[in-house]
Amino acid sequence: MTDTPQTTLQKLCHTLQLSETAVQALNIDPNSPFPLKVPAEFLAQIQPNQPNDPLLQQILPLQIEHQTAEGFNQDPVNDLTFNPTPSLIHKYQGRVLLIASPKCDVHCRYCFRRHFPYSEHANTRHWQKALDYIAQDHSIHEVILSGGDPMSLSEKSLVQLIKEIEAIPHIKTLRIHSRTPVVSPSKAPTQALIAWAKQTRLNKVLVIHCNHANELSHQTEQLFSLYKSVGFHLLNQSVLLKNINDQVKILEALSHKLFDQGVLPYYLNQLDRVQGATHFEVDTHTAKLLHNQLRTRLPGYLLPKLVQDLVNKPYKTPLI
Ligand code: SF4
Repeated sequence: MTDTPQTTLQKLCHTLQLSETAVQALNIDPNSPFPLKVPAEFLAQIQPNQPNDPLLQQILPLQIEHQTAEGFNQDPVNDLTFNPTPSLIHKYQGRVLLIASPKCDVHCRYCFRRHFPYSEHANTRHWQKALDYIAQDHSIHEVILSGGDPMSLSEKSLVQLIKEIEAIPHIKTLRIHSRTPVVSPSKAPTQALIAWAKQTRLNKVLVIHCNHANELSHQTEQLFSLYKSVGFHLLNQSVLLKNINDQVKILEALSHKLFDQGVLPYYLNQLDRVQGATHFEVDTHTAKLLHNQLRTRLPGYLLPKLVQDLVNKPYKTPLI
């Protein structure tokens, strides 16, 4: 797959018909070291002339990202403490996470790995060492492909990696975490991945990352249906984001639309306290209240678990 052509801030403002006054009021940071990156399909889901659009707010680099706050840092979930070999994170029992790619199709401003030292970790030359580590530890039964976004790899590289994981006898499940099916549905791998999925012995889980119902389209529905037809279990995890999805009706609509498209809501994550994302944080008390309201509106199978990745806990911590 080729990398996404870059949308400049100027082009974005023009496409979304944002007036100069609206742009000034947003207080954009055109020189962010984590620059604007947004694929055309995601851009098309943003409402024109709406500076507060919840999708736009997820991708616009703003000056407020320079704000610092106690507890916010560059490695908020302590990834680098649980890193037995480059590319691999072994934090939880029975499963490992492989940083398969340094790239994503989109730059989400709240990304907990926005400062991750990808140059030292996400490289195909590290894969063999990571695979050797997995092969020698028989307690590992699940491999999670993450990143960056594993679906930003070429389809050939992705399937080659998956086949090498499949060849390790004690691995039972492959889980792919990817935002590509949501933000670039036409670009997510299909042919070779689907061909592999039809005949593999592994359980297959695809966790999409969707924060708002407006991110879902007819294209995402078709793609999810394709993955489901070859046996992928489809789950969603969202991040609770201030002024984006911190209203009960928005979260309720998200759960319903996910289910309409064949995806089960799985986690609603409290924000990982990454430097640059202070303005997205919803305090824990409010998050719990919201979740309790959501519980009264949704059947249990559509209620995502409210969790937080707390450092030094060997699991995602339920907040309620
Ligand atoms: S797609 Fe995921 S890894 Fe990539 S920038 Fe967004 S949150 Fe971060």
